[in-house]
Amino acid sequence: MDRIKVHDKTFKTLITYDSLMEAIDRVAGRIEADFKDSKEVPVLLCILNGSIMFTAELMKRLDIPVELISMKLSSYSGMKSTGKVREVMGLTGSLEGKTVIVIEDIIDSGRTIEDIARIVKEKGAKETRICTMLFKPACYTKDIPIDYVGMEIEDDFIVGFGLDYDELGRNRKDIYVLDKAMKYFILFGPPGAGKGTQATAMVENYNLCHISTGELLRGEIAKGTELGLKAKALIDAGELVPDEVVEGMIENKFKTVTGVSGFLLDGFPRTIAQAQALDAMLAKSQEEVTACVSLMIPDEMIKERIKHRASVEGRADDANDETINNRIRTYHSKTEPLVEYYKNAGKYEEIDGIGTIDEVRGRIADVMDKF
Ligand code: AMP
Repeated sequence: MDRIKVHDKTFKTLITYDSLMEAIDRVAGRIEADFKDSKEVPVLLCILNGSIMFTAELMKRLDIPVELISMKLSSYSGMKSTGKVREVMGLTGSLEGKTVIVIEDIIDSGRTIEDIARIVKEKGAKETRICTMLFKPACYTKDIPIDYVGMEIEDDFIVGFGLDYDELGRNRKDIYVLDKAMKYFILFGPPGAGKGTQATAMVENYNLCHISTGELLRGEIAKGTELGLKAKALIDAGELVPDEVVEGMIENKFKTVTGVSGFLLDGFPRTIAQAQALDAMLAKSQEEVTACVSLMIPDEMIKERIKHRASVEGRADDANDETINNRIRTYHSKTEPLVEYYKNAGKYEEIDGIGTIDEVRGRIADVMDKF
């Protein structure tokens, strides 16, 4: 099995080029049989860009006169169906009075094909048939009959043979499916629980990329960026920076980091809104949070640990009592509700954060090994 990287995702072979060719042979045979005794010259309506490869392979197998017209629509943005279908390029020829075979790469919910069928009818076609390389029967919600199907597939996210993920991957001759092996761990806990300390061993042992939003923000402050300047005032006061800022940082990391088995999120999510945004981000690629590993220490210990860290690391937000108190308040009011959120999702794993670094590390390893 072959594995490829498209943007931030890893995909593995699902359908080989040879199997695709056999399926297209069968589709071509059926179309030819339907039209060989007909006086109609059917129009193959290639829906750009996804159907380019399928249309080309299909056309060269048809030993009957056919006309080719193309139409470009945009229905996917990123990985999720937006539900909006737009006629972007219009048609490259007239459909008036013609028998039209719409050539699609893939049909899932059927929203796109419903719009296409309507457009084709409005353009005066005499008859419309639908032909698709791939069909997801479990997702199809419309009544329009699909006349020619190359292959039926499960509800997976795929690329290759004309299909893209954010415009890349179309040139692959096989079809690939998203490899869902990526793990997304959340390292949760109050400030000073030891998240940063434990993260180092976790990322090494499990080949994860450690993303600490606090560290990213301190990096921006050190560089003196506009974002850093805005964040500094909030961080120094023990407040949270706006959700969109940290969400953008996380999404950017997911997209750019390669060669890891997953991510360890440290200091994110910190609000219910951030947790929902994370779920939505991952759902776009049919992925999800693996587990929320929660390091718990009592409130008295939070201050003690932070004061100790201040003497070692010299973080401005660790040195001031007022800031520390506000961070603890912010934790209880905005971040702690996430415990329920992840308990409800069946993803919450609590670890006693009291003990030596090695003791706590051992407890974390016992939990992580389950995944
Ligand atoms: P940390 O290093 O995780 O303790 O974060 C230091 C500070 O950065 C926090 O007190 C917040 O002001 C800010 N920060 C870090 N992560 C987030 C987040 N997910 N949402 C909002 N603010 C954050």
